Amino acid sequence: MRVDFHVHTVYSKDSVITFPLLVDACREKGIDAVAVMDHDVIEGALEFASRSDELMAAGEQVPRVIVGEEVRSAAGEICGLFISERVPDHLGPRKTMELIKEQGGLVYIPHPFDILKLKRLKARELLELAELIDILEACNGKPRFPWANVLAGRFLARNHFPRAAGSDAHEPVHLGAASVEMEEFNGPADLLEKLDAGSISGRRYSPLTSAFIRVNLRRKTRSQ
Ligand SMILES: [Zn+2]
Repeated sequence: MRVDFHVHTVYSKDSVITFPLLVDACREKGIDAVAVMDHDVIEGALEFASRSDELMAAGEQVPRVIVGEEVRSAAGEICGLFISERVPDHLGPRKTMELIKEQGGLVYIPHPFDILKLKRLKARELLELAELIDILEACNGKPRFPWANVLAGRFLARNHFPRAAGSDAHEPVHLGAASVEMEEFNGPADLLEKLDAGSISGRRYSPLTSAFIRVNLRRKTRSQ
């Protein structure tokens, strides 16, 4: 199955991806599952997941939705996967990770080497917190720093972390810009087990293109 581990919905405010747009784009691009990682909110992920579960049970072809959150911690963004409750923002990184783990979730570090982000976990901190980190995003679709994924690759060549990929899509056209082709999984432990054999693919698109597309989409929907 093809999985995009980093997707934003309209609940992120800066994204235009509604549930029907997500379904259409995933069908078109052959994406079987997405992790919804809205900024500091979880309602969208919960809603999308329950709508997708319902439709799947009715035999419809819709992407499976993993509930997640991209939490703005005091030391930059940290994602939780397979969570059921919102993790509060602006806590320290260790506390943020512990709250994700307490819910049985996985700690996923998005765009780890996007060095143009002022607040981010540095390499040294990633190593210090390694026992709490489950997955590192080896390929992000939209890092501000163009070589962020190359730096992540270099770090991962020296340090073993399970790796995944996500488009960071805020608009349908970019869904699947980075993804993992892997065996079907059931729950967090099974995902971790199967991730190692997965294969990552992705291409970077520019944050400017992303912003431009969103402005145009909003203008179009307003004039309808
Ligand atoms: Zn994101």
